[in-house]
Amino acid sequence: MTLLTDLSLREASSSLRAGEVSSRELTEACLERISLLDPGIHAFLALTTELALEQAESADRRLAEWRNNPTEPLPQILGIPIAIKDVLAVKGIPTTCGSKILEGFRPPYTATSVRRLMDSGSVILGKTNTDEFAMGSSTENSAYGVTHNPWDTDRVPGGSSGGSAAAVASRMCFAALGTDTGGSVRQPAAFCGVTGLKTSYGRVSRYGLIAYGSSLDTVGALARSAADLLPLFTVMAGHDPQDSTSMPAVVPEISLEDVDLNGLRIGVPNEYFIEGIQPRVEATVLQAVELMRSLGCEVLEISLPHTDLALPVYYLIAPAEASANLARYDGVRYGPRKSADELWQVYLETRGDLFGPEVKRRIMLGTYALSAGYYDAYYGQAQKVRTLIKNDFDEAFNEVDLIACPVAPTTAFGIGAHGDDPLSMYLEDVFTLPANLAGIPGIAFPVGFDDDGLPISMQLNAPHMDEASLFRAAHAYQMATTWHKESPKL
Ligand code: GLN
Repeated sequence: MTLLTDLSLREASSSLRAGEVSSRELTEACLERISLLDPGIHAFLALTTELALEQAESADRRLAEWRNNPTEPLPQILGIPIAIKDVLAVKGIPTTCGSKILEGFRPPYTATSVRRLMDSGSVILGKTNTDEFAMGSSTENSAYGVTHNPWDTDRVPGGSSGGSAAAVASRMCFAALGTDTGGSVRQPAAFCGVTGLKTSYGRVSRYGLIAYGSSLDTVGALARSAADLLPLFTVMAGHDPQDSTSMPAVVPEISLEDVDLNGLRIGVPNEYFIEGIQPRVEATVLQAVELMRSLGCEVLEISLPHTDLALPVYYLIAPAEASANLARYDGVRYGPRKSADELWQVYLETRGDLFGPEVKRRIMLGTYALSAGYYDAYYGQAQKVRTLIKNDFDEAFNEVDLIACPVAPTTAFGIGAHGDDPLSMYLEDVFTLPANLAGIPGIAFPVGFDDDGLPISMQLNAPHMDEASLFRAAHAYQMATTWHKESPKL
């Protein structure tokens, strides 16, 4: 029996238009699946059932009007149930960033990315689990418990958008929003076998995205295929005067009809095939590159010589920016407050009790890197090396159109596997951090499985603002293969 939740976003959208199914039915099917499966997965931190049903009814009214008079183009996401990572503000809905310090916080405004989706008629099912303030690669740093990988519930879903990835993989929603500061859309997408897009820095407004590393943060999305992601990108992308770093650039109309990859030049950076990468991951990604070649791409070996510096640079810049951004959680402005006699004690008790260990570690690292006397040696130096990393990409894109590489060195690891060793966890991000440092977009999509039945994914990166090439290449791959159609047995 096929379930409504088995439909792809595009199929659901056509069925809505044809009047074969209503948004209310799709929404109820998702909510039912969530109540059945989420006790074992824990993808959601909060459900917005009432809001979802209201939005579904209004989508159904809009669809009925359209069927009477089908002149206006309808947004493809109209009536489609989606989930939102809990670092994006939604007015009146609990928004915690996976942290106790924001427990009970209900934002007075909605993030632009979410608002644009709502204005186009999508249905918001709820908020998904995340590492605290998006700091992590496994969702284990959430103050509200870990999310389980739907392919093997003893493993992590990746992070920090692990809740969104698990929700899409287990078909509790048709798509989900995530955010990517150092890999947090691409890596969980890879671990859960779904397709994840990290947008270019400046492409999608950060307004209402609760800041982690402001020069690195991007809004992205996860769905079952590139084709399913496209309607979300189209709606969210574009200039927003409320974010001074959002680019006033035209969003191209991207068509996935008759995509032709003939002559597309794909670069494979040798620095990405290093010690520590699982042999099966390496072999599977290279096989996927070969498939791209058979679709007409020209494959070239390239070099990104400063790749090994991305990790230390990121782990200076991201914590430095985080330490400044997280200064605002003082027990006075947001969330709960610990009581004490003196103001400084209020700060100390609130921050000491309500921030988790990883967040405190990063605040300390970042504060140190920014302190007088060390600023030039650490933060200043890191910014210079960041430019070298960006230059590597600029030079590579003189020779190739896209870069293909693994998303992570391993498939999904066991819950607790990195235990008390934050450095070994940071190594999971080696292949995703460079794109954030350079501000360029990336897409991750499944290209095979390892012997334990865990998804393996490939990453494509494109020049700044060239999401169109990522969509076309990933879509062509998905038209030629079926990996993205596999789903975990739950
Ligand atoms: N894992 C990286 C970190 O912990 C990236 C997280 C992210 O992209 N939000 O910082």
